[in-house]
Amino acid sequence: MRELVFLGPRKLEWREAPEPRIEHPEDAIVRPIAATTCDLDTAIIRGTTPFEGPFAIGHECVAEVAHVGPGATQFYRGQHVIVSWHISCGHCHRCARRQLPNTCSHFPRGAAFGSPVQGLWGGLFSDLVRVPHAPASLVPLPPGADPTHWASLSDNIPFGYELTVPHLLRNPGADMLIMGGCGSVALYAAAFARAAGAGAVDYIDTDRTRLDIATKLGANAIEMPPPRRHGSYPITVDASMSADSLRCAIRSTEPEGQCSSVGCHFGEVAMPMMEMYVRGINFYTGRGQGRPNIEKAMAFVEARRVKTELVTTEVMPFDAAPEVLARGSMKPVLVRPPVCGPKPCDITQHSGRIG
Ligand SMILES: [Zn+2]
Ligand SMILES: [Zn+2]
Repeated sequence: MRELVFLGPRKLEWREAPEPRIEHPEDAIVRPIAATTCDLDTAIIRGTTPFEGPFAIGHECVAEVAHVGPGATQFYRGQHVIVSWHISCGHCHRCARRQLPNTCSHFPRGAAFGSPVQGLWGGLFSDLVRVPHAPASLVPLPPGADPTHWASLSDNIPFGYELTVPHLLRNPGADMLIMGGCGSVALYAAAFARAAGAGAVDYIDTDRTRLDIATKLGANAIEMPPPRRHGSYPITVDASMSADSLRCAIRSTEPEGQCSSVGCHFGEVAMPMMEMYVRGINFYTGRGQGRPNIEKAMAFVEARRVKTELVTTEVMPFDAAPEVLARGSMKPVLVRPPVCGPKPCDITQHSGRIG
């Protein structure tokens, strides 16, 4: 089978790799049919992160189920599923009791598809991928859903939900400031903020494509480099990968307000700690909780309250992935037709070809 390997800045290629096998009763083997780039992937491909190739890239996709182990028979061959970006067991105290599977205690912290950081788990642009503990990682698509614009439900779409909706539930109608710059998460956040009844949704960026998308999503798109401060908002989001934007978000958070950063600041960043101390700022940064927010975000997408297709920048055939990703388009979706039949999966066949 092929996997899409990141080699170095703007260099990717298909490489042959051994087909994955069911190794544990709860495993599933899936075949990605709509895959896209996380904002982190885009930065990796640009060469602006410490991540060095070669490794199989990609951790956002809708896949069809090819095979399941005997502990994952709630899934069936041909079923379309969202694959959560992080590797988790679903059973440990962090997964089951604390609902924090992105820091599962069973796997090395940070274990994820498409990353070289904590083991190699395969990339979600591959022909086939083994999903450990499928019941903890796979979410079935609603019947009739077009996989194309659901691929980012693995990561960036639920991250956009996480940065906005829970805070707006605690503070209904609050104004929000979103510092864009790194790609799609900021735009999904703008869409969820609108859908969840925020007051003003102000979106700051310098990129014309992203600003236009923000406008279509109902945000007030403001074209400017990050100012020192931009007003005062109960809820602010830094999704920029820029230290100046992060500091602007912090300084623009009203007293006792909430400022969240999607991170990907790869060095140490000076923060205005005295200003945060005097005003009282609740600051959060993290990689996104992932799996627990997939269904919650999906409900908005299914109800058409969040139109994810507005963020997609191009839809291309899967085979073109090396060229499309090297070009650096913000949110390309690579698609191919399903080939797994809707018959029940043969669980005695623990590896092998689809078809
Ligand atoms: Zn990601
Ligand atoms: Zn766990």
